Amino acid sequence: MDERHYEVAVIGAGPAGMTAAMYAARALKRTALFEGKVPGGELLNTDLIEDYPGFASITGAELAQRMADHSLHFGAELLPHRVTAVVPLGDGRHRIEVEEGDPYTADAVIITAGGEPRKLDVPGELALAGHGVSYCAICDGAFFRGERLAVVGGGDAAVEEATFLTRYASHVTVIHRRDQFRAQPVLVERARANPKIDVLFDHVVEEVVGDGQRVTGLRLRDVHTQAASELAVGGVFIFIGFLPNTQLVTVHVDHDAQGHYRTDDMMQTSVPGIFAAGDVRSQLTRQITTAVGDATTAAVAATKYVEEEQAPRAAAG
Ligand code: NAP
Repeated sequence: MDERHYEVAVIGAGPAGMTAAMYAARALKRTALFEGKVPGGELLNTDLIEDYPGFASITGAELAQRMADHSLHFGAELLPHRVTAVVPLGDGRHRIEVEEGDPYTADAVIITAGGEPRKLDVPGELALAGHGVSYCAICDGAFFRGERLAVVGGGDAAVEEATFLTRYASHVTVIHRRDQFRAQPVLVERARANPKIDVLFDHVVEEVVGDGQRVTGLRLRDVHTQAASELAVGGVFIFIGFLPNTQLVTVHVDHDAQGHYRTDDMMQTSVPGIFAAGDVRSQLTRQITTAVGDATTAAVAATKYVEEEQAPRAAAG
């Protein structure tokens, strides 16, 4: 047996990847789960989860740990590598290149690599990242005890994390570029009811201002009147969406305008043998429930690909 060959390779150990690895290994396929960091993905950036069936309330860290244990329970191997490229080999197999070490090969590949937080792209943002600019409330919120904070964005993440940050901050201003939130009403109501939160609609951040060491405030602009203003804050949390990690495959893969992979109803991308699930996939919503559901389909379909397409090809070959 070629030790570096797997029947199913899963790339990224968030909820989708951990689910796909569990299903593929339980179907008795030799399965690798590639993850360059700690298994958990976006769960590790989420405080409380209240919308995963069976758990009325569970911390992201605990659900991540439970899923990670379960993902390896049926024999999937966790390979601690950051994948740098997935190269279709033309014979239905794929080469998986990693940051350090020799490449691996796999019959089917399931890409569950998630994404990176979108940046505002304004002066001061990157220079002050880690010095008051953050993209993760759970990771960094506790550093801002008693401070005034800003949250930028209008989706579920911005509104939910603004509420989370009030456990540390004295006050949180949510700054959104439009006059209504995209976030679910239940999250908006909770934030609206919180006396520590106020909302600044129709404003954009033009600059993150610092004193050379740390964030001291934001320069803002009203999108209608163009009036400039300043907001004094000790930190700013930016939740303006996610950029999917969909640059790994070295040939063209069909994608939507934001770069998410388009798949068929088997979760197969436009490249045979390459499947996708979770935040890399084009879909209506990006929930844990949809990630694990789509990963289930991807793993079952990848198993069929190995058994019905690759095994006969290899036998004939
Ligand atoms: P999102 O839903 O894409 O929302 C991004 C927000 O950022 C939007 O309000 C958008 O404004 C704003 N935005 C985008 N680019 C901007 C820019 N350059 N400057 C200023 N504002 C900008 O992203 P998300 O909140 O990270 O959520 C991602 C996915 O995870 C969603 O599917 C969400 O449902 C899911 N999620 C779910 C939960 C939960 O269910 N508890 C929690 C977190 C995330 P516009 O509205 O004007 O476009």
